[in-house]
Amino acid sequence: MFEPVKLDEARKVIAVEWWKDIGNRRPLPALLEAIIREADDRRRAYWFRGQCCASHPLIPKVHRKYDRRVETNLVNLFRSQAPARCGKCPAFEDHAGWLTLMQHHGLPTRLLDWTNSPLTAVYFAVGNRPPHLNQCANRSADGFSAVWALDGFTLNRTVSLAVGLDDTIELMPILSQEAVDLEPHVLGPLVEAAFFPNVAAASGLAEAVFPIQTHPRMMVQASRFTLHSDRTAALEGMRFAGDFLIKFPIPRDMEEEIAWELGRLNISEEALFPDLDHLAASF
Ligand SMILES: [Zn+2]
Repeated sequence: MFEPVKLDEARKVIAVEWWKDIGNRRPLPALLEAIIREADDRRRAYWFRGQCCASHPLIPKVHRKYDRRVETNLVNLFRSQAPARCGKCPAFEDHAGWLTLMQHHGLPTRLLDWTNSPLTAVYFAVGNRPPHLNQCANRSADGFSAVWALDGFTLNRTVSLAVGLDDTIELMPILSQEAVDLEPHVLGPLVEAAFFPNVAAASGLAEAVFPIQTHPRMMVQASRFTLHSDRTAALEGMRFAGDFLIKFPIPRDMEEEIAWELGRLNISEEALFPDLDHLAASF
């Protein structure tokens, strides 16, 4: 196992400027080499996330757009109307299962998507995006997209510390109702607060969790999640963020070539979305 990180509040989140010494190399191998080098140097396991703009905060969609009342209405509407449309829905009281299903189908939730694969993250930063992402209002103002690397075990240690729990044990819970029911401090209220407005939940918290991979797309994309309490829980603004986050900006003028290189490696829409709609659209 990896050595625990020595927590240091003063450590800043670094932005690795990998393109500055690129020489004659192609951009995708140069970026991947920088990602692997940083992870090796720190001797930690990282998850990855691609974002269309480097300046976007690491906060899930429901907290970017809505308050807690709207969030609860959304989960209630979905949970009450989904069973007639879904052959194998989670049990009604399986809140963790419902959050996973809602995220999978694009409902704004308090989950943020991560992947165990740096290549998949690069794809979501620069690849052919769905139209709604191409319309990002910030895109022309921000000269970079980005891949973020997250050490989820260290994030969870800092959250344990924040709520007064033992921070010496490195834990990664499964996003399951079993874990939610047994954990009254962080995971339990973080999930239940999405469903019940009367659940008192601390603000500014996020936890890294292993999802239960219920769909082939989650397996292919090596899906991971962070779970966030509210709009103040942006990862890059959290205490000790420099200990668990690294940013790899990608200059806009390299995006097209990187997207082409990804295609050569078969990192594509139809490979990452293994369903019949994407297969048909790929021909
Ligand atoms: Zn954007």
